[in-house]
Amino acid sequence: MEGLWEKTSERVRDTLGQVGYETWICPLNFVGLKGKTATLEAPNRFFRDWVQDRYFDVIRTSLTAEAGQEVDLKLTVCERNGLPVAENPAPPAPAPVRPARAPKVVEERRDRGSLNNLNPRYTFNEFVVGSANQFAHAAAQAVSEHPGEKYNPLFIYGGVGLGKTHLVSAIGHHVLANGGGRRKVLFMPAEVFMNELISSIRRDNMGDFKDRFRRVDMLILDDVQFLAGRERTQEEFFHTFNSLHFDRHQIVLTSDKVPRDIPGLEERLRNRFESGLIADIAPPDLETRVAIIQKKAVLENLDLSSDVILYVAQNVSSNVRELEGCLTRLAALASMNKAQITVDFARQALHDLIRDHDVKPDIDAIQKTVADFFHIRLVDLKSKKRTQHIAFCRQVAMFLCRKLTDSSFPAIGDSFGRDHSTVIHAYNLIARRVANDSAFRLSMDKIARELKVTVNHAA
Ligand code: ADP
Ligand code: MG
Repeated sequence: MEGLWEKTSERVRDTLGQVGYETWICPLNFVGLKGKTATLEAPNRFFRDWVQDRYFDVIRTSLTAEAGQEVDLKLTVCERNGLPVAENPAPPAPAPVRPARAPKVVEERRDRGSLNNLNPRYTFNEFVVGSANQFAHAAAQAVSEHPGEKYNPLFIYGGVGLGKTHLVSAIGHHVLANGGGRRKVLFMPAEVFMNELISSIRRDNMGDFKDRFRRVDMLILDDVQFLAGRERTQEEFFHTFNSLHFDRHQIVLTSDKVPRDIPGLEERLRNRFESGLIADIAPPDLETRVAIIQKKAVLENLDLSSDVILYVAQNVSSNVRELEGCLTRLAALASMNKAQITVDFARQALHDLIRDHDVKPDIDAIQKTVADFFHIRLVDLKSKKRTQHIAFCRQVAMFLCRKLTDSSFPAIGDSFGRDHSTVIHAYNLIARRVANDSAFRLSMDKIARELKVTVNHAA
């Protein structure tokens, strides 16, 4: 039965391409084929809807072809690691005390003070989509098309400089642009929320404070991990949240971690944060980094040759803000020196920003890169979880550890909390697949490129 899904998903990959495949197909869990009905499990409701709308037919057709019989397809939502989302989410109970409405509804001008506070550059247009952020991007678009309706709150998390603020701001811009000037969008870093709360307590002005937040159609609170341990702020935000949610106003949150990993976050808030849709942004892969550099170069009128673009993309991998920093530096130095930007020029200009990559990756780096590549969490990769997808990713990681480091099978086993025989089994399994499946071999090469090395498939 595993063979059936493996073959089917390969077929689907041919149709969708690698990015679509990695984003939407890999995370699906093949539950099995019972009679004529094949069941696939999606990690959450948004995922299910998306696949249902776009890929249902291609998956069903491929299944039918591989199974050699007509197959019905059922897409379900995983209840275990997924979030307990009801089909029609009820407003959170208990309903908060209704805030007194402002007596006169003043039409806010769009430019009023810091009401929206959005960086004008952070639009969907300027956001480059790749496999590491495609899911978050799709979620953001869905929310911006139907604010307050389906996925509320939207919670986007990911490491620093990976585009969280950009993406959630893009939602705000989109909603404003399509609201005929009537919608009120409030973007605010969580830290500012706290500071304003404190000052309104001091000025004995809580009424205005509450009112201000509860009158918006969309609240974007950036970096909510900042609320960690701030009890009074959490308490107030809890009420703000409930009030907005009750009125079906969209709430968008970002954080550097998932809610359950934010220390000192009250359970009731965590539950609220988890009650909508959670999407992550992982570090961009090489292709996406190239695309981002190209886009930024155009925006900045910077003429870069493709080898310079590749050089920067290959050497700056951790985050997009750093990529931008490199480009700014290149632009500045080139204009000061009136020099042509060559790879050598770039190497010199960026020498202190760029790490030396002629070193072998270590097991940690491989684990992390594989987890990023397949959009799973590092802890899951290293866990004992046996879901098909995670077990597969783990086998890939073990294979690459053996290929790319000098570590022994037992040493690799230790790093995964596994026996050496498990590693050998994984190695053989993946090696066989590499030998027989050229598309799969390309994926391995792609991961290796992320690690700035090449895999010697012959050895
Ligand atoms: P975060 O909030 O996750 O720390 P930001 O949203 O501030 O990251 O992004 C950092 C910088 O990188 C911003 O200038 C942003 O425009 C840029 N950036 C990040 N991701 C992308 C992307 N996918 N496409 C284009 N620019 C991006
Ligand atoms: Mg940010």
